[in-house]
Amino acid sequence: MSFISAPSPNFDARRAPPDMVVIHYTGMSSGAAALERLGDPEAKVSAHYLIEEDGRVFVLVPEERRAWHAGVSFWKGERDVNAVSIGIELVNPGHDHGYRAFPDDQIEALIGLLDVIRGRWEIPNGRILGHSDVAPERKVDPGELFPWKRLAEAGHGLWLEPPAAPGAPLGVGDEGAGVFALQAGLTRMGYDSAPTGRYDDHTRIIVQAFQRHWRPERVDGIADGETRARLVHLLRAAAESGSAAPG
Ligand SMILES: [Zn+2]
Repeated sequence: MSFISAPSPNFDARRAPPDMVVIHYTGMSSGAAALERLGDPEAKVSAHYLIEEDGRVFVLVPEERRAWHAGVSFWKGERDVNAVSIGIELVNPGHDHGYRAFPDDQIEALIGLLDVIRGRWEIPNGRILGHSDVAPERKVDPGELFPWKRLAEAGHGLWLEPPAAPGAPLGVGDEGAGVFALQAGLTRMGYDSAPTGRYDDHTRIIVQAFQRHWRPERVDGIADGETRARLVHLLRAAAESGSAAPG
């Protein structure tokens, strides 16, 4: 695949090889505007790659360097997500400026890029994530229109559609063992969701982030049986992909 060079000054040194990919949308009116901002030393933000809606791939920061894309974030105990990840920005106006489907050309280019990146670094399927997975309190990108299922069918990331499970939905205000088990599962998956047994606002936000990625038909922060079934099956799949904590 061909790359267009668009160097950004906004990076520093890694302290470990990357073992995670974080996918973003730009959330700006155009790709050109996003490129300008990601290259502006005053903005202090960047990513390793930006992919235009027509599939053109821009290289901003070398993979060996630490790009500044994730901000305050968390996954599986890691708070310096930038240090261990590769950040990819997809041009899309985002929820504030006319969120729309990611075109085929853009997703094809992303799949090709992931093929190349994962040929170079050890990145388990369970560590191909959205910005909203690692920063659920602040971010919603790449959002519920991002085709995680298609990506997984192309060999990148996790996707499962287990049979619907029965069980009453859990939501804000609920307490008890079921809530505790849900929070423990989300923590094992990677989210910052320490089990308390109380379904509070933070739990709702984490459940919403989970749904945005793995249950996009229902991004309401209510853990229905289907949401919980997907979590249980994904934990198994993540363990098999070598990315879940033991136990
Ligand atoms: Zn982002």
